[in-house]
Amino acid sequence: MAFNHLLDRIIFPPCCYLCSRLLSGQVRSHLRNICPQCLSSLPFRPKSNLPPPDDMPVLLEEERAPWKFGKISVQAIFYYEGAIREAILRLKFSGCTEYGRLLGALTGSVLKDRLRKSGSWPAGIVPIPLSEARLLRRGYNQADLLAKHLSEEIGVEVFPMVRRIKDTERQSEMHSREERQNNVNGAFELNPDFPVEAFRGREIILIDDVLTSGFTMQACAKPLQQAGLNLLGLAAASGSMNKRL
Ligand SMILES: [Zn+2]
Repeated sequence: MAFNHLLDRIIFPPCCYLCSRLLSGQVRSHLRNICPQCLSSLPFRPKSNLPPPDDMPVLLEEERAPWKFGKISVQAIFYYEGAIREAILRLKFSGCTEYGRLLGALTGSVLKDRLRKSGSWPAGIVPIPLSEARLLRRGYNQADLLAKHLSEEIGVEVFPMVRRIKDTERQSEMHSREERQNNVNGAFELNPDFPVEAFRGREIILIDDVLTSGFTMQACAKPLQQAGLNLLGLAAASGSMNKRL
């Protein structure tokens, strides 16, 4: 072990990202900074015909994923609750960007297994862009971080294919489904500086942190679908175990 690395481990011993329990080096590298106890209690969404990777807990029951939102198929890896909800909130509102790595790697780990079993591999990853005002306030787009670490996990490149052209209100502040839909309608367009046409007919992953009504995903997918791309919507989390979508 290099001296710097050794020193690093003495001064900053590896701890679980979720409960701060001390980790052994082996567990740390294999399970991405989460202790076995936290890993086994993560709120994984079940998926009927696609079992989880070997190091993930057994899924609980069947469900109808991927869902269809308009013309886009969407899947979420976790329920938006427990440690995952906490991690997403810290990522979005407390500046804890390391949770982007954690969530991206976990999401990628499950997705990779599903992709292997399906036999088809996407040609690119596109993060849903944040509004300019929110990007300035937060300093980063959490979907960019998820995309970056998902990319490292599944070996697929991230491309800036779309841009946001409308500063929308927070979807969570909208009161009805209609308001949510209208809020994001026409909010995205193709990035004129990117050769999107080169991806015509190929499958692209469109990623966001949380999926609620699905309208943002749908609005962002629209220009890409109009350009002839096949999209798979992916969210780190969605819904809760008790309140299904
Ligand atoms: Zn833990």
